[in-house]
Amino acid sequence: MFSLIVHGGAGPHRDQEDGAGAQEGCLAAARAGAEVLAKGGSALDAVELAARLLEDDPRFNAGTGAVLNVDGEVELDASVMDGETLRAGAVAVVKTVKNPVSLARLVMERTPHVMLVGEGADAFARSQGIPAIAPGALITPLQRARWLEAQGAKHGTIGAVALDARGQVAAATSTGGTSGKLKGRVGDSPLIGAGTVADSRWGGVSSTGLGEFIIRVGLARTVLEGMRRGLTPDAAAAEGIAELVRIGGDGGAIAVRTSGEVGWAFSSERMAGAWARDGGREGTFFERTGSVR
Ligand code: ASP
Repeated sequence: MFSLIVHGGAGPHRDQEDGAGAQEGCLAAARAGAEVLAKGGSALDAVELAARLLEDDPRFNAGTGAVLNVDGEVELDASVMDGETLRAGAVAVVKTVKNPVSLARLVMERTPHVMLVGEGADAFARSQGIPAIAPGALITPLQRARWLEAQGAKHGTIGAVALDARGQVAAATSTGGTSGKLKGRVGDSPLIGAGTVADSRWGGVSSTGLGEFIIRVGLARTVLEGMRRGLTPDAAAAEGIAELVRIGGDGGAIAVRTSGEVGWAFSSERMAGAWARDGGREGTFFERTGSVR
């Protein structure tokens, strides 16, 4: 048995007019991650691969295609957690790395730390042989145009959560954050318990939405707690989102339970995503029907 679910960020419709394209990108990433799991690969490898594909897809606000900060620069945040050992790695305000999720995994595996930020994170990437990308290489014409037009707050994120055939769970989240953000702003995505959490006893979660609210309700941990109490991933995600809405936030969460089910909930107009399970079962989601989900 294995399961994997990914999201391409929650938000209003104006942030993502191409709903079909977003679902297509999510499904491709979910299928690639599921292929790793079908071959007996680890949940950690599966979420890293799925997240890298979404980072490389310019339709999503992570890696290539990330939104720009107030100075027109890309500053990336990402995290990963291994539910087997509860080890975690994260990076924030990274400017010269194409795939921050992989750098987060290196922080987890090759340092005694959980998070590196800014210049230190970029320097660590160099020490690990990750080449510096050319300045501006991750900036797409669309994001440059949006920045020039200063079109309100844009955001979005990508995330992946998987359960492997050994019963282990992993989760990963990666983002460009919110457009026009102050230099040095860090959202929920690199924070364990807010943007990402995994514990193989119960499941794993990845969040999306305005980080300033998600951090305050510890959204990923709240959803995990629901699954620990026996809720399905859908019900646990809906409970977490209700907490977010209660304080004026808006967003979504995806979850996998150790028993194999996948689930999601969102209060925003849309959240692109896809899931894949053993037996060729798969699906996509985008628009919300009802108040949550
Ligand atoms: N959570 C991300 C952040 O606040 C943005 C998003 O998911 O839309 O950085």
